[in-house]
Amino acid sequence: MRYAILSDIHSNLSALEETLRVAAEANVNRYLCLGDIVGYGPSPNECCERIRALPGMFIRGNHDEAAIQPGKEMWFTPAARACITWTREQLTSENLEFLESLPQEEVVEGAILCHGSVANPDLYTTTPEESMVSFQVMEGQLAFFGHTHYAEWFRHNKNSELPVEETRPRGGFLRLRRESQFMVNPGAVGQPRDGNQQASFVIWDQTAGTIEFLRVDYNVADTQRRMLEAGLPENMALRLGLGI
Ligand code: ZN
Repeated sequence: MRYAILSDIHSNLSALEETLRVAAEANVNRYLCLGDIVGYGPSPNECCERIRALPGMFIRGNHDEAAIQPGKEMWFTPAARACITWTREQLTSENLEFLESLPQEEVVEGAILCHGSVANPDLYTTTPEESMVSFQVMEGQLAFFGHTHYAEWFRHNKNSELPVEETRPRGGFLRLRRESQFMVNPGAVGQPRDGNQQASFVIWDQTAGTIEFLRVDYNVADTQRRMLEAGLPENMALRLGLGI
């Protein structure tokens, strides 16, 4: 079975469509989404509809939660808060119901899907120390997470003190060796922050035990134009072009 794993789409339709096109060409069977389908970008309904139509499993992120639970955005930056307020006004009742139906965590073929960390969906996993929070509660070999918008993985060997961190902002390949546990972040489809503006995702070949990190060109200028037309914050549009 080959899974495309997407995270942090953030209402960026052009990035999502190009990502799905590349995934389909790579003979993916199913799709897994790690949350933040909405927030920041100009196309929340279209992105919900594209994801809903895919065969697979999807969980919610903190922006999806803020879209359905007014008040949750009090932890956001002012610009992120402005985006989520706008998003809430745009979402159709079907898409609000869809976001509401998403679980916080799922398990697929023994692999955990979570938004921020295995222990807590709102926690950021950015360092080997922070990844220990997840490894300490993981029983299986593999977990997928998002939230930081960085394409990378953490590898933990039972007898070693700290996990090893490997970033892959230009794509790459990981073989899931049996003796280690892995936390894998596919990066962000719709708002990468690892210095590369291209959309990011991974393909997990469950049978082969491999994960491929891919980057995909999309029409950044088109998404930026739509954001400005919608009256979304200019700095949120500008950062897409910088990959930050
Ligand atoms: Zn996000």
